[in-house]
Amino acid sequence: MTPATLTTVSDYQPPLTDLLFSLEHVVDYVAPTNRDGDTIGAKRHGDGTVTTPDSFKAAYRGYVDAGWGGVPLPEEYGGGGFPRTVGLIIQELMTSANMAFALCPLLTQGAIEALLNYGSDEQKQRYLPQMVTGEWAGTMNLTEPQAGSDVGALTTRAVPQDDGSYKITGQKIFITFGDHDLSEQIVHLVLARTPDAPEGTRGISCFIVPKRMVNDDGSLGERNNVECLSIEEKLGIHGSPTCVMSYEDATGYLIGEENKGMRIMFVMMNSARLSVGMQGLAVGERAYQQSLAYAQERRQGLAIGASGKDSAIIDHPDVRRMLMTQKSYLGALRHLMLLNAIYVDHSTNAADEAERTRADEIVGLLTPICKSFGTDLGNELTSIALQIHGGMGFVEETGVAQHYRDVRIAAIYEGTNGIQAADLVGRKLGVRAGASVTEFIAQMREMDGELADAGEAFASIRTELGTALDALEKTTGWMLRTGMQDPNAVLSGSSPYTRMWGLALGGWLLARAALAAAGLGDAAVAEEKLVLARFYAEQLLPQAEALTGAATAGSEDLFALDAAALA
Ligand SMILES: Cc1cc2nc3c(=O)[nH]c(=O)nc-3n(C[C@H](O)[C@H](O)[C@H](O)COP(=O)(O)OP(=O)(O)OC[C@H]3O[C@@H](n4cnc5c(N)ncnc54)[C@H](O)[C@@H]3O)c2cc1C
Repeated sequence: MTPATLTTVSDYQPPLTDLLFSLEHVVDYVAPTNRDGDTIGAKRHGDGTVTTPDSFKAAYRGYVDAGWGGVPLPEEYGGGGFPRTVGLIIQELMTSANMAFALCPLLTQGAIEALLNYGSDEQKQRYLPQMVTGEWAGTMNLTEPQAGSDVGALTTRAVPQDDGSYKITGQKIFITFGDHDLSEQIVHLVLARTPDAPEGTRGISCFIVPKRMVNDDGSLGERNNVECLSIEEKLGIHGSPTCVMSYEDATGYLIGEENKGMRIMFVMMNSARLSVGMQGLAVGERAYQQSLAYAQERRQGLAIGASGKDSAIIDHPDVRRMLMTQKSYLGALRHLMLLNAIYVDHSTNAADEAERTRADEIVGLLTPICKSFGTDLGNELTSIALQIHGGMGFVEETGVAQHYRDVRIAAIYEGTNGIQAADLVGRKLGVRAGASVTEFIAQMREMDGELADAGEAFASIRTELGTALDALEKTTGWMLRTGMQDPNAVLSGSSPYTRMWGLALGGWLLARAALAAAGLGDAAVAEEKLVLARFYAEQLLPQAEALTGAATAGSEDLFALDAAALA
């Protein structure tokens, strides 16, 4: 199975014009709320209620009425039955329009997926239809003051009751959309420990804790003992309330079995990790569009060979370099996110079991790379957008600084990028004793013959991609050999290694896009895709090989100075 076969078009013609028309409308009414989110922000009031800007409420109503939230969810619960890939595209557009606002549906989707996979039939019937439409929102409650990256350190308690429910007591911090006024009901998914649970992640269970109790006829009853104590003042995404949540003997319902909560959370987290990687792309795209418009308008200095008094800054080579860097990285990221989403769909829908299993392995491999490469680039590309604006980028008036501030969190939440790198080397490389990852690199190499046949215009792409894949293969071999005897050495190089993967995947996918475009009979598209792939191959991809040293240096120098000597 290769991306080429995965994207083969059947005789079905997607109604793209209709979809785009509808999507443009949704984006049209969400995008103007972005500034309100930043300047007005979410607020907690004296009576304990949390509000979002008025424009958010109207936009959310429109989002629910149009049914966008349910598009990739099962028809059985009122969804549209579309693949995850389509859902991710909608998420990208919503996030470009307003990242803070889009977090509410993003978290709801994660909670829905956990319930779909592990909820009982009764729980699915009770919660899913309203969550699928977006009438009810969802949250993920993992983090506690002492339990951040180390989720296993959480102490929230869950005490079983005679009626089969549990009493949940504890405090959660940093809970996105933990309380708000966009929906009447919030379905919290909360990680907690039962009284005799084993230590660490092996003793974590996952509970549904509704903000308001649900009556047998499905109507909403009294408030549960869940409260937002405060919301955080943050660097960005001001429109998204980040809540300290208090649970005091709140009524909760176990999902699945006791002590199996991490498995459930992984369903939510894998979905959310891809979505968060996509946030880097989405906000990077909006910032790029803004910087491109600015570069066309702003006039300074005279470009070489130009006449007149001054030139638009887009005519200066260094500004072009920045724009091309943004555009080619964004192209690479979009291909990468969609590839991952296509494998997610295949891991659940492929007819053949072996194909599903292989797709699942590839999702496991790609997810930490999408999350960290996507969000690292989100930071870098919004920073470039700010740079293109010169001094106007540093002042709030142009709005470009908001993108830079908003996207900063994406490399931190949903497992920091350091944790993603540790996941890649610690859990994903070892699958089938390294055979899984080795097969994937071999799959990336299969395109070499096509590149050779494509002629001189593709020559440098072929050479640079070959060099990057050689470096990736060599470094992967080192990681697999070293992991057994010196795990600290492998962890020391895990972040540069993850970046190497992102760079190589981007080069591979842009080259594939250029090859595909060459066969479409549209000279302008073919030229654009070829130039992007070549620019990336010659000017960005060489960083992959250059990371070999950092990826394989081991831990010696990192720990050569003791902690006191770092002062
Ligand atoms: C705006 C915002 C929204 C959030 N939304 C939610 C939410 O909805 N639900 C929720 O449950 N949580 C949420 N979080 C919490 C978020 O997921 C955590 O902040 C994140 O997981 C990191 O945990 P921490 O802040 O405790 O940092 P720490 O775990 O203390 O990490 C600090 C630094 O140490 C590094 N580090 C820690 N352990 C290791 C290790 N083993 N190996 C290598 N490096 C390590 C980290 O990479 C990081 O650089 C949110 C946070 C913010 C700020």
